[in-house]
Amino acid sequence: MKDTAVTVAGLGVSGVPAAKVLHGLGARVTVVNGTAGERQQAEAAELEALGIPVRLGDGDTLPAGTELVVTSPGWKPTSPLFRAAEEAGLEIWGDVELAWRLRGPNAAPWLAVTGTNGKTTTTRMLAAILEAAGLRTAAVGNIGVSVLDAVLGEREYDVLAVELSSYQLHWAPSIRPHSAAVLNLAPDHLDWHGSMAAYAADKGRVYHGNKVACVYNVADPATEDLVRAADVEEGCRAIGFTLGAPRPSQFGVVDGILVDRAFVADRQRNAQELAETGDVNPPAPHNIANALAAAALARAYGVPPEAVRDGLRAFRPDAHRIAEVAVVDGVTYVDDSKATNTHAAEASLAAYPSVVWLAGGLAKGATFDDLVRGAADRLRGAVLFGADRALVRDALARHAPQVPVVDLERTDTGAMAAAVAAARGLACPGDTVLLAPACASMDMFTNYNVRGDMFADAVRALPATGDRPA
Ligand code: ADP
Repeated sequence: MKDTAVTVAGLGVSGVPAAKVLHGLGARVTVVNGTAGERQQAEAAELEALGIPVRLGDGDTLPAGTELVVTSPGWKPTSPLFRAAEEAGLEIWGDVELAWRLRGPNAAPWLAVTGTNGKTTTTRMLAAILEAAGLRTAAVGNIGVSVLDAVLGEREYDVLAVELSSYQLHWAPSIRPHSAAVLNLAPDHLDWHGSMAAYAADKGRVYHGNKVACVYNVADPATEDLVRAADVEEGCRAIGFTLGAPRPSQFGVVDGILVDRAFVADRQRNAQELAETGDVNPPAPHNIANALAAAALARAYGVPPEAVRDGLRAFRPDAHRIAEVAVVDGVTYVDDSKATNTHAAEASLAAYPSVVWLAGGLAKGATFDDLVRGAADRLRGAVLFGADRALVRDALARHAPQVPVVDLERTDTGAMAAAVAAARGLACPGDTVLLAPACASMDMFTNYNVRGDMFADAVRALPATGDRPA
């Protein structure tokens, strides 16, 4: 890196640390950023104080003399800056690629997780299992702690649980995980990738160079196709996970027990029992699938079965992911604000038999017919809010006309409390009021965390009457 002229595209959580690391290694770094708001100016001042030049307000022009581009994951591949770099024959690395290249010779291997939904949950489950096995590990990547920090920091690790987004994989051509899982594939971020095929191909990069196991979802054949297309090391195996009974080389469920039929040490037996479905928190079907994927990666690394069970028991879901907030008058209120697309909402709606559904926001080009059709017989009512709520309302009218709908026009700060009050009016004891909006939040809220917090606050403020009719 010494003396290499590196252009870092983008400030923020990825660009600022990348610029500092490269500068520290003696590279001649220039940072470019298209916008010049307050945050960017503060970050630019911080970097300039270290002697790193920052060009604010022009993210399109490639600085003269650039030899390497290091980009933040969110930048679109069609950006003029990248076109110029490609025309000049330059390599473009994301922060994950940079971390891979800079890791030391004794660096910890990576167990990688990607997919449209369930990445964070599965990565954290995996880290919990590895920890239960006494390994020095951390959940890193698209999850808070950057891979760069983990790779270059003081702490030593035996193995890393790495969550990778499709953006990060796009810009990480040479990473070679020990083993990796693609949990599922559904249309998302297509505006960025250009097409479903390009999105899937970027996800599939996670399998390239795998050494022990490529873990795929038996129920989602597109993930197995990606394994077939991958260029892996000799001896690397395709390992499926299924909610049904597993075949050889698969993980699955038999009579409520999570079972491994891939890495069975005892040749007298053809299956290894790992844990009970009740050990998974919460034991919703999609989450059991996440647990199986995490178990498969951990077992590929050689973790014993007891550690899978102990790790799953120790795991606690992150906030806003199917989090039970309270039970009021026999109605359970669940915050799944992180269900920002229809595929995620489908999974959480499937987890409850009788639901009053809070949905709406920014649809990002999605349609709701399949989602509503699949959930119709579980819906007790629906409360709709946000910019694209009419799309959900129309799908309900088409496929679930019997379901009472409250269409909330208001978008002020009291809107979520009004939505919760309306949901309460529709719910009976035994029902679940589920915030699983199937939409992004930014039309009404800063992000999905704020949306979920407002829901939880409104629920906690509900007075229990105890005497509402059933
Ligand atoms: P990601 O990191 O991929 O966004 P999370 O683990 O944060 O995934 O979960 C996001 C949301 O996706 C959850 O709130 C839940 O609604 C849904 N979800 C989680 N796991 C799965 C899965 N395996 N399949 C479908 N949806 C899922």
